[in-house]
Amino acid sequence: MRLWSTLERGPVELPPPEEKKRVGMYVCGPTVYDYIHIGNARPFIVFDVLRRYLESRGYEVVYVQNITDIDDKIINRAREEGSSPEEVAERFTREYLEDLRALGAKLPTYQPRARAYVDKMIELIEELIAKGHAYVADGDVYFSVRSFPGYGKLSGKSLDDLLAGARVELGEAKRDPLDFTLWKAAKPGEPKWPSPWGLGRPGWHTECVVMSRELLGETLDIHAGGNDLIFPHHENEIAQAEALSGKPFARIWLHNGMLTVKGEKMSKSLGNFYYARDVVELYGTEAVRYFYLSRHWRKPLDFSPEALEEARKAVEGVYEFLAEAELAGGGKEVALPEELAGEVRLLEEKFHGDLEDDFNTPGALAALQGMVNAGKRFAAAGGDRRALAAIAQRIRKLAAPLGLFQRRGPAGLPGKAEEIIGLLVDLRAELRRERNFRLADAIREKLAALGVELRDTPQGTVWTLR
Ligand SMILES: [Zn+2]
Repeated sequence: MRLWSTLERGPVELPPPEEKKRVGMYVCGPTVYDYIHIGNARPFIVFDVLRRYLESRGYEVVYVQNITDIDDKIINRAREEGSSPEEVAERFTREYLEDLRALGAKLPTYQPRARAYVDKMIELIEELIAKGHAYVADGDVYFSVRSFPGYGKLSGKSLDDLLAGARVELGEAKRDPLDFTLWKAAKPGEPKWPSPWGLGRPGWHTECVVMSRELLGETLDIHAGGNDLIFPHHENEIAQAEALSGKPFARIWLHNGMLTVKGEKMSKSLGNFYYARDVVELYGTEAVRYFYLSRHWRKPLDFSPEALEEARKAVEGVYEFLAEAELAGGGKEVALPEELAGEVRLLEEKFHGDLEDDFNTPGALAALQGMVNAGKRFAAAGGDRRALAAIAQRIRKLAAPLGLFQRRGPAGLPGKAEEIIGLLVDLRAELRRERNFRLADAIREKLAALGVELRDTPQGTVWTLR
């Protein structure tokens, strides 16, 4: 698989799973001071799908996504609310996990929280000082940018460019305006930890370096995040990690494009944002995922109700096809007819080929839509409709790593109705396994009386609304 890496400014090959089974992947996680907005959700969906696709290819992915629970924004929010930074961080960590679930993302292998790694951060900063890459000034610790010759290589900025934009804030005792903070001396009322330089707290750039090294080692296979993190966050991560290890910090750097609203970046500070949970509530999990996957991950994507509505319709369209196809199959395994098999095979190859080539998810979705269309054309031309079930089965299998098209019933039911019907369907399957056909049939008949029809297929029970 080839992936476009920001550092190389071109595609980099990920060795096949036969050569390299374990892939260590680090994605910068949220700062937990508020609910995430739908723009924040883009990397959490895109890289969730990349991880799941790699797993489906046979890799063993160790996926780390940190929780930044020490930050100015958390302190400010606590001050506004009259609560404590710990309470704010704890609450929005819980809300974030709830949002991941709503977005249909698989939980990361590890979700380290910065607070649990402060000792390790102090150790890393001490090591940087000992090696001459950092210095103490008035209880703060700064990284000396000029001590690391590779500085600017990720963002492509020269020290002269950077110097033109650099400023020394009031109260900072930097030796050079380019230098960045590793440790901040405590101000009154802020969370603080004891350190060799007095009470204080670590800076954000050090948090990610320490958590990724602790869980994935000195060189990550993939480091990912939004392209707004390239500078200064990831540039500063590279400087610390590589100054210490002398090895590449990450083999592949992935940066997703921003979500925009009428061409402007969606952000809390501009006020043009929508909370992820509200968008999911309005359009559904799969529509949100489809919306993101229908655009190449490196490109900007414009948010609008129309675009989400279009994604919702596309998802519904595929589900309608799946429901019809699986009913037409009548619960029997049917082989793909010869005249359809060639076309479907080509589309399956396109699906994989597109994902292998820089994770082109729009191409992969087009291949799935192509399979739906091929099935419809075949049926419209008088082909044996039972063959459609074989296409449906292939679509579901391909789409599983995308987190799409795995639902076994129709959408659009109010509240929890869908989940309750799912529960009854599972219960009936359990009763059948126990050969309690009397109760199993009673469930089917009572659901039928309510307009919910069950059909048993080799892939499990499907249900439709009459
Ligand atoms: Zn980070």
